[in-house]
Amino acid sequence: MYIRGAPNVNIITDHKPLERIWQKPKPPLRIERWGLRLQPYKLKITYQPGSENPADFMSRHPSDNPVKSREQSIAEQYVRFVMSEAVPRAMTLDEVKMASSKDKTIQKAIEFVRTGQWFKIKNITDLEIDIEELQALRSISGELVTYGDTILLRDNRIVLPSELRVRAVNIAHEGHQGITKTKAFLRSKIWFPGLNDRVDNAIKDCSACQSVTHTKRIEPLRMSELPEKPWTNLSADFCGPLPSGDLLFVITDEYSRYPVVEVIKSDSASTVVPVLDKVISTFGIPKVIKTDNGPPFNSHAFRQYAENTGFEHRRVTPLWPRANAQAESFNKPMMKTIKAAHVERKSWKQELFKFLRQFRATPHTSTGYPPFQLLFNREPVTKLPQVHKPNITNKQMDENARQNDESEKCKMKKQFDERNHAKPSNIEIGNYVLRKTDRKENKLTPAYEPNPYNVMNKKGSMITATNGEKVVTRNSSKFKKVNRPPIHNDDEIEEQFENTIPSNIQDQPPSSGTEQQSTIPQQSERPVRQKHVPKYLEDYVR
Ligand SMILES: [Zn+2]
Repeated sequence: MYIRGAPNVNIITDHKPLERIWQKPKPPLRIERWGLRLQPYKLKITYQPGSENPADFMSRHPSDNPVKSREQSIAEQYVRFVMSEAVPRAMTLDEVKMASSKDKTIQKAIEFVRTGQWFKIKNITDLEIDIEELQALRSISGELVTYGDTILLRDNRIVLPSELRVRAVNIAHEGHQGITKTKAFLRSKIWFPGLNDRVDNAIKDCSACQSVTHTKRIEPLRMSELPEKPWTNLSADFCGPLPSGDLLFVITDEYSRYPVVEVIKSDSASTVVPVLDKVISTFGIPKVIKTDNGPPFNSHAFRQYAENTGFEHRRVTPLWPRANAQAESFNKPMMKTIKAAHVERKSWKQELFKFLRQFRATPHTSTGYPPFQLLFNREPVTKLPQVHKPNITNKQMDENARQNDESEKCKMKKQFDERNHAKPSNIEIGNYVLRKTDRKENKLTPAYEPNPYNVMNKKGSMITATNGEKVVTRNSSKFKKVNRPPIHNDDEIEEQFENTIPSNIQDQPPSSGTEQQSTIPQQSERPVRQKHVPKYLEDYVR
């Protein structure tokens, strides 16, 4: 505080390791942390042995006659100023005083701060004192200061007694700021051990927040197996429209990856069906054609055509476009060719045919074979010279292609899963979930329907759930698990905020309405905290 903003400050210390604080190799972690905290200051640290350092003498021979120096009174004024600033509004300093004086853990900590005898923690037998919390305080004892007789500060923030913590968290979460902001707001004024957990839990239990925030949970990619034979499973998709108004109708064989592209003028069933019919008459009738849900595939005419021709029309998982990734991976390079033709002022159709010829004759990254060869069982003739190669049997080729395809898909899956931090869904049968809103009616439409669904069935990544009125089946990414049925009506949500939510609420039966009426936080029990890596270190560096 005294040297804040000072241009250059020399520090002479008898603590040798401090010299290395900003030097390489990095100092021990403890000292590095000090270094981080001291970064705002311009300090030069010099070592001087204790025998030549008068500071040692001073600290070991305190004056018998403590007269308050000017510095001391400034320090006190500063602490007082911080105190008056640090109280969250609606929670008065008197309240903090009262609660602190009743809080035996805080009082014990104050005693230790004064005496420095933290080692006495071992001897404490009083069950009302939270030993774990005292240990947490001990580890930051260097930053603790007492204010008055009853209040404990960490640097310039109030160490809040446990009685007031829930309320403080609720005050900080007013206006439904997110986890990070809520924590930042709290930490600007107060601190207590376990603050992070407390905020995390409070927001997890806030139904208003839960229904409006997205979760980014992405499920691991599920890769489809290679179909049994060529031209049994096709996928169909559109690309475009191009500036000319043309659409590209792309049909891909999922086995060989052989693409057929037709240029069409509209995506109406009356245009698409005859074109598809031409393709099918050339290559044969497939077992399955996969498409998305858009027109014309959702039309009656298309359904009729599928029935008459005798293939199964499978519409890709509702609202889950990623399942159609295969078509996407072809469309991109194709569009690139068309764009290049446009730049070069060439006929894009001619260039498209060239592209298709090359694509079909080039070993596919997944199968390792040219699509042409897998579909027609003979090597394509290309413009490059080639000597006669020994024939490969159909079976051998199929085995190789299958193996390559699988390992390639594994690679792709691994990459995807890592990049998206994919995790398998945590949703189980019987859980309560919120359902993602299908489409946004306006900007205020919440991301999730506020009323929870109950999970009835789970099949792979597909979840079937009901809200009592209707039953829906969607990919698990369209649901979000919630702790318990959130409260439906707005008043109750308000009320929930006014009142306390103990952090261990998950272990308790939901409290009844009458209990929630009281405005004074009731927290007779101390919160039970699990042991883990010391969380208080998380905000050690600010
Ligand atoms: Zn909230």
